[in-house]
Amino acid sequence: MIDKRTFLKTSAIIGASVALSGCSKEKSSLKSININKNKKTTIRLATSWPANFPIMGTGIERFSSRLETISQDTLRVKVYPKNVLLPALGVFDAASAGAIDAYHSASYFYKGKNEAFNLFTGFPFGMTATEMNAWIDNGGGMELWRELYAKYNLVPFKGGNTDVQMGGWFKKEINSLEDLKGLKMRIPGLGGEVFSKLGVKPVLLPAGEIYLALERNVLDATEWLGPSLDTKMGFQKVAKYYYTGWHEPGSMLSLVFNQKKFNSLGDEQKMMIEMASNELNATMNSEFQAENTKALKVVEESGAVIKTFPKEILVSAKKAMLEVVTEKSNKSADFKKVWESADTFLRENRKWTDMGIKTYLESR
Ligand code: CA
Repeated sequence: MIDKRTFLKTSAIIGASVALSGCSKEKSSLKSININKNKKTTIRLATSWPANFPIMGTGIERFSSRLETISQDTLRVKVYPKNVLLPALGVFDAASAGAIDAYHSASYFYKGKNEAFNLFTGFPFGMTATEMNAWIDNGGGMELWRELYAKYNLVPFKGGNTDVQMGGWFKKEINSLEDLKGLKMRIPGLGGEVFSKLGVKPVLLPAGEIYLALERNVLDATEWLGPSLDTKMGFQKVAKYYYTGWHEPGSMLSLVFNQKKFNSLGDEQKMMIEMASNELNATMNSEFQAENTKALKVVEESGAVIKTFPKEILVSAKKAMLEVVTEKSNKSADFKKVWESADTFLRENRKWTDMGIKTYLESR
């Protein structure tokens, strides 16, 4: 017979486990999976990456084949790598117009269409991958992203996270703000705009031309991603100083569907896409963590010197970031709205990040 004390103890444990599994018990609008196997839909999905591009390209291929499997082949995904059907940055317009059904790319590539798009990838001194996921999933980020992309007939999903990116490869050591003046550097996005305020001359070059430009001193520096992909580009052979990151702390890629195509799918298929996108986002992040670690060995063996930017540069870059944000908020109501959401979320969330993971890392 269970006495009162044991009963109370057991109830407390059951109560806790119900609370913990609260998310998975969330009511679904779907009563059961009901796939019409006779209706097969092909999704023509273009990417911004070359065929078999490590981690990003292989990630979207894996997403596609797994989506086909779980949908019992009712969804067939045909992946078109960069330049097969479209140039790398042609995918947004093509999906918006319905010329393709979906794409895999990064939102900040299309900031020319709307400055707010920067923020759905990430921003300098901004959110880590974990914080970005929290903002998108639980902090109103996804609702804003969907609302904004709907204006372009698009439905976005999380498409992977690169985790923190490195600050880049420099041919000369950077010891002061003075050393940045006139420096020709390949650095896109908000990071480039911030560095430009500190005297850097941001240069945009196609990926295939960066190595030669660095070797021939047409470029003084370049950022790319992290050890995993940087070492494949061979930057360690032509630049000695490898600086830690500040400008892309947790860049999220995007998996985006043409709205009409997405709406034509069954509820079960939509749910499968969402689940597969969550998996893509998580597995790409873990792959970057594992591959960056492996590639660190290549960086070390190359004799590269790993450095962190001097404090005066980081302090000035933070100030410049605020100027960039103010200018963009004054020009674009969309940017202002999304920035306020992201910035407010980060200000609150960093309290837990600092108390939780930061304190732990310092004590490990
Ligand atoms: Ca980058």
